[in-house]
Amino acid sequence: MLTKTLENDIISIYKCMGVKSMNNVTKMFGSKVFNNFVMEERLPRDVYKAMQKAINDGKRLDLSVANVVANSMKDWAIENGATHFTHWFQPMTGITAEKHDSFITPTRDGNVIMEFSGKELVQGESDASSFPSGGLRATFEARGYTAWDPTSYAFIKENTLYIPTAFCSYGGEALDEKTPLLRSMEAISRQAVRILHLFGNEDVKTVKTTVGPEQEYFLIDKNIYDKRPDLLFTGRTLFGAKAPKGQELEDHYFGTIKTRVAEFMKEVDEELWKLGVLSKTEHNEAAPAQHELAPIFTTTNIAADHNQLAMEILQKVAQRHDLVCLLHEKPFAGVNGSGKHNNWSLSTSSGKNLLDPGETPYENAQFLLFLCAVIKAVDEYQELLRISVASAGNDHRLGANEAPPAIVSIFLGEELSEILSAIEKDAEYDSKEKVQMKIGVHVIPRFPKDTTDRNRTSPFAFTGNKFEFRMLGSTASIAEANVVINTAVAESLRQYADELEGAQDFENALNKLIKRTIKDHKRIIFNGNGYDDLWVKEAERRGLANLRTTPESLPHLLDEKSIKLFSEHKVYSEIELRSRLDIMTENYCKIVNIEALTMIDMAEKDIMPAVSKFIGQTAQNASSIKNFIKDADCIYENETVKKASSLLSSVYETVNTLKKDLENVPSEDKSKEAFYYKDVIIDDMKKLRESVDELELICDRKSWPYPGYGEILFSVK
Ligand code: ADP
Ligand code: MG
Repeated sequence: MLTKTLENDIISIYKCMGVKSMNNVTKMFGSKVFNNFVMEERLPRDVYKAMQKAINDGKRLDLSVANVVANSMKDWAIENGATHFTHWFQPMTGITAEKHDSFITPTRDGNVIMEFSGKELVQGESDASSFPSGGLRATFEARGYTAWDPTSYAFIKENTLYIPTAFCSYGGEALDEKTPLLRSMEAISRQAVRILHLFGNEDVKTVKTTVGPEQEYFLIDKNIYDKRPDLLFTGRTLFGAKAPKGQELEDHYFGTIKTRVAEFMKEVDEELWKLGVLSKTEHNEAAPAQHELAPIFTTTNIAADHNQLAMEILQKVAQRHDLVCLLHEKPFAGVNGSGKHNNWSLSTSSGKNLLDPGETPYENAQFLLFLCAVIKAVDEYQELLRISVASAGNDHRLGANEAPPAIVSIFLGEELSEILSAIEKDAEYDSKEKVQMKIGVHVIPRFPKDTTDRNRTSPFAFTGNKFEFRMLGSTASIAEANVVINTAVAESLRQYADELEGAQDFENALNKLIKRTIKDHKRIIFNGNGYDDLWVKEAERRGLANLRTTPESLPHLLDEKSIKLFSEHKVYSEIELRSRLDIMTENYCKIVNIEALTMIDMAEKDIMPAVSKFIGQTAQNASSIKNFIKDADCIYENETVKKASSLLSSVYETVNTLKKDLENVPSEDKSKEAFYYKDVIIDDMKKLRESVDELELICDRKSWPYPGYGEILFSVK
């Protein structure tokens, strides 16, 4: 339901956009969503109550109740223009899937009526065989089923009622991103509630994780996009020399938004608001043509659904404006890539943020314990966090001096770090007055929530009352990263609860536990510049993992401690983990393979013929000039012909090497295959690009077959 603050937020956005009548505000927001308002209005009292229980406490709905909900949902959907419904899910392709059925049911007299039963709402059957299952398909039935997730509201898009669902095999194995996410949310809730009870918060029954994902993207002109096969096939430019102007003037970040972009953003917001997505901020990002969309945070599974919707709407609305929205992590070499900042916290059902320090010594102690749980989790499961953001695309971004490095570390800010250090050493903490920090007795000093000392180079930063995980790539679903954060923190909390529940003297045990955590895990805390090369050395000294690429990181998914973590918290079984590893490895290989083939195609069909023509023309020009002026030296022509033809030869040779290397991809072992793509194929691709980019710089503009970086990046006027 819209809370008062949320409503105010939305009203202020509308005000900024010049919307006069505030009546429209709430009318538009969520107008296409079967939300709490609609349910309260349309459902019989007892059914509404049962729905609330299903949403808040995860209680299953009886079929009789589901029938009433389904019928009311259908009536509402038809009134709002829908004729079809779909179970909407997120298979392991990273994007969403849907299969539309109409509400039409034939009657005996040859007519039709519009029907939708509880059974159709709660569960759907789907042929799983065309979705990636990473071996699960071989072991289990090809059929899969979709199960309604009542905690994420159904909504209408175009003429269809969308029902958010989880997607499983008949054996119960997760075939999607959502099932493990929901499981991990349950796992962390279970453990966090144990801790809260120890602090006397007996009334808390569930804890929810909340996420606000900030989404970065590029916006370019569609006519220009259509002329680049690399963008069309792979979402990124595989060739392209640096433009004379890039982002060095830093004149784009938070700069004035161009009219065409502003119109696009307004429409994106409106579409998202109708779907109940709390889109709040839109601004320009660091690189030219780069922008960001940030929603107001919400419960994690809903945030994951909404982020998928946001990515889809961004792309659809762009088309309507003759623009293309690029979601790739690194569409342009030498220009900032796009990520997704996953702002994460925990909150009780009454809305108390557990990463908010609070006012009293006791609240502070509870906060410190949750903070320590995150520090311990991030340190112990660095590899899993790295894997959760691993993809061929993100490999180009992480560590490229504009995004966090591939090393996971935590930024706490100086003040909080000093407090922790004082606690660890039983030393005095020197703020305004010297205090010896005793947990549960002293109030920790208030530290600035939102200040300039915020470190943008840190992969995992504490920002006053939440953590911001910044390593996610812009295309990825946020589900995987949150599965890892939730489960790893659940494990810290489980260990804490086991220890504290058995303690004679709670306060003493708590003090010891916090001290021990700080001592054991302080190596993960780093407040300095994450882009600095010195940090790479320092991190190595501290024994932190530096898994630079996807193939290097993925095998850690099957480390003994990963299997143990996920199976103990019932998030992934070992079989499910193996299948995920398979899918991720295969996906990496496929992407690099498509990129290599696209490069070959572009080089052979367009680039080499164009350069050859250019060389011929330039050589001819030289002889024409010499015909005219006998002793003309024709330096430009001679040098250019020489240089271009030598580069052309090297392009030709590298293309052949690349082709040959592609024929020799090892196929017996997936991990070996991924390493081969990383070491051999990507290396060939780099060489090929170098020669081509150099050629682009010396060939004349007209003869070059594609629009260059300057034209693409500044295409939206
Ligand atoms: P920025 O990081 O760009 O300065 P903010 O700090 O205001 O912006 O917020 C970034 C994102 O963090 C927003 O999506 C916001 O809703 C989200 N956020 C704020 N509080 C929480 C919370 N308790 N849990 C999860 N996300 C939160
Ligand atoms: Mg941010």
